[in-house]
Amino acid sequence: MVNTQFDDRSLHEECGVFGIYNVQEAAQLSFYGLHSMQHRGQEGTGIVTSDSENLYGHKNEGQVRYVFNDANLSKLKGDKAIGHVRYATQGGSGLMNVQPFLFKHSTGDFGLCHNGNIVNSSQLREFLESKGSIFQSTSDTEIFAHLIKQGRQTNFLDAIKESLLYLEGAFAFLLLTKDTLYAMRDKNGLRPLSIGQLDNGYVVSSETCALDMIGATFTRDILPGEVVMINQEGIHSSFYAKDVQHRMCAMEYIYFSRPDSDITGLNVHTARKQCGRMLAQEAPVEADIVVGVPDSSLSAAYGYAEESGIPYEMGMIKNRYSGRTFIEPTQAMREKGVKMKLSPVRSVVSGKRVILIDDSIVRGTTSANLVAMLKQMGALEVHMRIASPPIIAPCFYGVDTSTYDELISANMGLDELCEKIGADSLYFLSEAGLQKALNNKGLCMACFNKNYPTELYSKLEEANKDGKC
Ligand code: AMP
Ligand code: SF4
Repeated sequence: MVNTQFDDRSLHEECGVFGIYNVQEAAQLSFYGLHSMQHRGQEGTGIVTSDSENLYGHKNEGQVRYVFNDANLSKLKGDKAIGHVRYATQGGSGLMNVQPFLFKHSTGDFGLCHNGNIVNSSQLREFLESKGSIFQSTSDTEIFAHLIKQGRQTNFLDAIKESLLYLEGAFAFLLLTKDTLYAMRDKNGLRPLSIGQLDNGYVVSSETCALDMIGATFTRDILPGEVVMINQEGIHSSFYAKDVQHRMCAMEYIYFSRPDSDITGLNVHTARKQCGRMLAQEAPVEADIVVGVPDSSLSAAYGYAEESGIPYEMGMIKNRYSGRTFIEPTQAMREKGVKMKLSPVRSVVSGKRVILIDDSIVRGTTSANLVAMLKQMGALEVHMRIASPPIIAPCFYGVDTSTYDELISANMGLDELCEKIGADSLYFLSEAGLQKALNNKGLCMACFNKNYPTELYSKLEEANKDGKC
């Protein structure tokens, strides 16, 4: 049994970053880019722009379309911008943590934003505070700014590269000075970051759907360990680390990214569909219809239906006006939340043997509620099929997959879990199946197998990893 004393995870963020260089109305275009990545974070958003003379910023808590309007966008002058959407899942909500941060310094101001999580942030913060740093926020992003300014290097690019060497964990950073945009990825490439072109300018984005949104053309992904510098001379690429590897977060494909985005050359919808196909091969079952949990599991459900030959049906609909349910503070609220969000279609499921496809099980709240609702609506059998392996360990790299004792698969075997959610059968996609579905790309799958690609630094996290608690 897991000990709850190990639940005090640090701040975890699931965010999206967007940057633009040398394109008129950079703030307005950033608005559209960020809006298309709203699913990556709804807690807060901001944009910092530059007109080559000054930096301008606006940020607030809330969604992109409520935070920005014509009046405040028109004050964000210039042809260069960085922007951020933020999803704080623990601790550090509030305006002080909304990004981009805009740092004022005698050697030059800069804006900074980040997607990911720095796992050695407490150690670095302690070190920097002992050297005199005073932090304005509880976000680990600010640590990077202090490292840059406290380092020995006088050249800004060298200072960035030196500072990045101190950071362990997952990051996609965008940094804007008055004349240069920098974009960088951690040496394991855990979080996505792509470059595109628009007219004579450049666009950088967590997801390619934002490039499509503003009519930019995808050029390439930024590589693990790469620092891209964009200025008047064009694009300059260099690496801050030599020991790089490709460990893209598997959850980006499974749940997090938009189906119309491509990650390392693989379309997310196609990847999910392929997961559904593999699942049908690994766990066939006799049934009348295949139903996907909207929206993130629809692609996998199509794949399962195609592979099995069992018809896909719209047996469940999503209330488009409901908010999120995953991170509600209490279990009772989460359960109500599922009902507000998802409803079975009685005339479709009644009298049918249903294969219900979901992309993942975290706490088990969604599955248990959906199985119960389907049965209330007259489904004869409900066979749950999950298009990813069981989540048995937390993520320390910026995706909220919950804590050890909340993760139902960390605490329960398959049969017990099947009984708990009330399904007639339950099966998860195997790790090998997931690898194959994602074209054997270099992946992080640590929440499925505890094979974390970095040190975790915190004693609590290490203890969790080794299952000592
Ligand atoms: P649960 O009800 O706790 O088992 O959560 C499972 C549901 O949450 C699934 O339907 C997933 O689509 C969704 N989900 C999985 N991972 C996340 C995440 N990191 N943030 C929000 N929702 C998630
Ligand atoms: Fe993604 Fe899981 Fe790795 Fe976190 S632990 S980066 S959620 S695959």
